[in-house]
Amino acid sequence: MPIYLDNNATTPIDPRVLEAMRPAFEGVFGNPASATHAWGWQAEELVKIAREQVAAALECTPEEIIFTATATEANNLALQGLALRSPKRLVYSAIEHKSVLGCAARLGQLGWECIEVAVDSSGLVDLDALSSALQKPTSVVSIIGANNEVGTFQDLAALIDLAHSHNALIHMDLVQGFGKVPLSLGRLGVDLASFSAHKINGPKGVGALFVRRELRPELQPIILGGDHEGGLRAGTLNVPGIVGFGKAAQLATTELEGNAKHCSRLATSLLNQLRGSIPGLALNGHATRRIPGNLSLTFPQIDATQIIAKLASQVALSTTSACLSAGHAGSHVLRALGLDQAQIRSTLRIGVGNRNTEQEVALAGQKIVETYLALKLKS
Ligand code: PLP
Repeated sequence: MPIYLDNNATTPIDPRVLEAMRPAFEGVFGNPASATHAWGWQAEELVKIAREQVAAALECTPEEIIFTATATEANNLALQGLALRSPKRLVYSAIEHKSVLGCAARLGQLGWECIEVAVDSSGLVDLDALSSALQKPTSVVSIIGANNEVGTFQDLAALIDLAHSHNALIHMDLVQGFGKVPLSLGRLGVDLASFSAHKINGPKGVGALFVRRELRPELQPIILGGDHEGGLRAGTLNVPGIVGFGKAAQLATTELEGNAKHCSRLATSLLNQLRGSIPGLALNGHATRRIPGNLSLTFPQIDATQIIAKLASQVALSTTSACLSAGHAGSHVLRALGLDQAQIRSTLRIGVGNRNTEQEVALAGQKIVETYLALKLKS
């Protein structure tokens, strides 16, 4: 098997999570909305426990967690769910996930004014630009708290304060921050926040939107049907997925410190190893305000897709985000940081995860160096 270093795209499931999910695939197969028999009650109990686990991990109340199918859906619910709000004005950063950019485009079609705010060359939101954008009354600000491509971790408190001081709500995509940096949603005062289980060694196909309690009456469902999730998200709940999310959330927080140290140490040693053999190698994103494990690297004068292709059967790497590589589009994130087309083509993303070993990372580093030097010789 190749060495898996694409943990910002997805993570392997933790065996303890898989084990926790098993009962929901086997005996407890009921529909949690079935209120008339034990099968339904048991499934409802599993969902209740998982909701409490996710809420405990994020330091909010269980009622503030709405389960969705993905974080893409959570981002859609957060932004399109506020479409009826006034004033019809959204402010978002230039490095958002495609799901937020898609919502901005949709809200634009619905008559909203959608304003994109620049980031600096390290990927931090320009607070002066955000402040000027908020001079006009704004309903909601949406910011990616931890970027999936370059790893930059924003100053969440400063952004929340700024939005609130202009009477705007703030939504944060915290998918890549969960399990990597401590998050206390209650204390932070964020209004809405999106999460995904498969980024924290949980199953795919389950996400969550945190909705601050007082805001709930303002949010409209975007998937209509039954009264699931308090009327905010219709559709039978994915019980095994939700159970897995609960367990993964619990492990991600109790083991956060050790995991973060492990990923940071391995990523730093990989970076040093690569820098030692590749003069001019550039690390994108912020030098210190970054999520552990992420490395966005620009290789001097080499098309990074060639490195990725040559190593595909040995080391799993990616150019940008999984969503973008699927669409073969250039990275809007790298562009927003000021990289030119040639630099974007020379960039690859490495995501070290908590299950990677020191030996794997050292071997991957050696293979990347060998491949880079071989390609350089030919060019
Ligand atoms: N937001 C960020 C920052 C992500 O990295 C991802 C995953 O690629 C998503 C949202 C979407 O998550 P999901 O795969 O659950 O739709």
